[in-house]
Amino acid sequence: MQRLYEPRDRIEAQLLYDFLNRHRVGVVILGDYLSGAAGGLPVDIGPTLWVVEDADLARGRELLGRFQADALRRSDAATWHCAGCGESVDGDFDLCWNCGQGRAETGS
Ligand SMILES: [Zn+2]
Repeated sequence: MQRLYEPRDRIEAQLLYDFLNRHRVGVVILGDYLSGAAGGLPVDIGPTLWVVEDADLARGRELLGRFQADALRRSDAATWHCAGCGESVDGDFDLCWNCGQGRAETGS
């Protein structure tokens, strides 16, 4: 078993767990809820992600990189810039909060 990554929280750990297992890299989450009970470990230790089969580690790292790139792209797409006034507008809105202009089509 090889340690792959230290997610920042339980949610990221679970997302990665699902993602990697879906791509046939067997992983387990350690540290999680049991951290307080594990003798000698500090209680604030976060969950860690481990690849079950050593041979899957390289693929696990590759998938981890892809997962993080995707997450970054998603958060980029969440905000758009108004073509009229240049303000940043949250992706939930289709109109600029500042000048009322609609979201510009991408491309062209
Ligand atoms: Zn605007």
